[in-house]
Amino acid sequence: MDPKIGMVGTPCQITAATLMKDYESFIKEFPVTLKIGLFCMENFSYKYLKRFLEEKGISLKEIIQCRIEGGSAKFHLNSGETISIPLKELKETMRKSCQICMDYTSEQADISIGSVGSPQGWSTIIIRTKKGLKLIKAAEEKKYIKTKPISDKGFELLQRLAAGKKEKNLKEIKKREKVARPVMYWRVMPETEYLEEVTDYQFRDLRGDVIDIGACVLCGACLLSCPEEIIKIEDRKPEIKGECPPACNACYIACPRTYVPDNIISHETAKEPLGDYIKIVSAKAPMFKGQDGGVVTALLSYALSEGIVDKVLVVDKDTKNPWKPTPKLTKHIEDVIKAAGTKYSACPIFKAMGGS
Ligand code: SF4
Ligand code: SF4
Ligand code: SF4
Repeated sequence: MDPKIGMVGTPCQITAATLMKDYESFIKEFPVTLKIGLFCMENFSYKYLKRFLEEKGISLKEIIQCRIEGGSAKFHLNSGETISIPLKELKETMRKSCQICMDYTSEQADISIGSVGSPQGWSTIIIRTKKGLKLIKAAEEKKYIKTKPISDKGFELLQRLAAGKKEKNLKEIKKREKVARPVMYWRVMPETEYLEEVTDYQFRDLRGDVIDIGACVLCGACLLSCPEEIIKIEDRKPEIKGECPPACNACYIACPRTYVPDNIISHETAKEPLGDYIKIVSAKAPMFKGQDGGVVTALLSYALSEGIVDKVLVVDKDTKNPWKPTPKLTKHIEDVIKAAGTKYSACPIFKAMGGS
């Protein structure tokens, strides 16, 4: 029997997982059965952030933690000092692909989790599917988490931030489309049209439509989906080392930044700040610590211990360089606990599931 995998990822990674699951027959088996999505406003480019901070006399190696709070990034250094830099100043270090991202709350996840909207020490959980609801209820019964209704003020803040991201990035999409190539994933199309459209697309098209125009989110879905295992990541970009067989379009289908069918993303997305959901609550996990109130760690640990999933896909910190996150597929709760906390640079998460 195939292993059941639970994953935690950013909205763009959750979109890739949804594509790989829904179009599994075009790719190869994709055993992710539980998707926990994170809230994500933007992510830093490792290279540009490193240069920016070095110009201010700070080395990335000195930073032990980063938190985004009240419009600023707060960098906690190993000297005990905290440096606060307004996000406006950091704009040039943001990944170009994040500036056209229309999803703040992982709208295709089973449950989405983030700190916005809940008091300190609590997280906000958006429950989107029956599977997600069942998990939350069971984890609460077993005392892994504790929930309470989200406050009106918290809900309004969450909606405002999500709507603000969409409004800002839709403007950027329109701006780019006027002067450059189309933003493919926003060229949403009906599923039948989509399947016809992508029939002949291969890696060369992925390179032209996504990678070369700064739309790649570095998720690693193309690596995982490639049956020939000829995609490698070099200099933070996917590249191929070999020839594509004529009938293959797996990488193009798996990529969350090529065309997406309207059963996954629709233009209605722009009008609905939080996407579809069943319920929103605040939650905390008394037994676990973490930047998200420990809730992600608690839910993954619960899912593993009850056999709801056999393994989980998480992003761990590199012990020598916390800014270079490392994807990990694990069945050990200790690894889940160790991987807790938000990472602020892109990571080819699906590589850990078997990409080359
Ligand atoms: S594209 Fe950027 S902003 Fe969007 S989900 Fe991915 S990392 Fe976050
Ligand atoms: S063989 Fe070529 S077209 Fe197929 S997934 Fe690999 S890189 Fe893409
Ligand atoms: S090109 Fe590959 S790594 Fe980049 S977004 Fe697409 S699937 Fe992810």
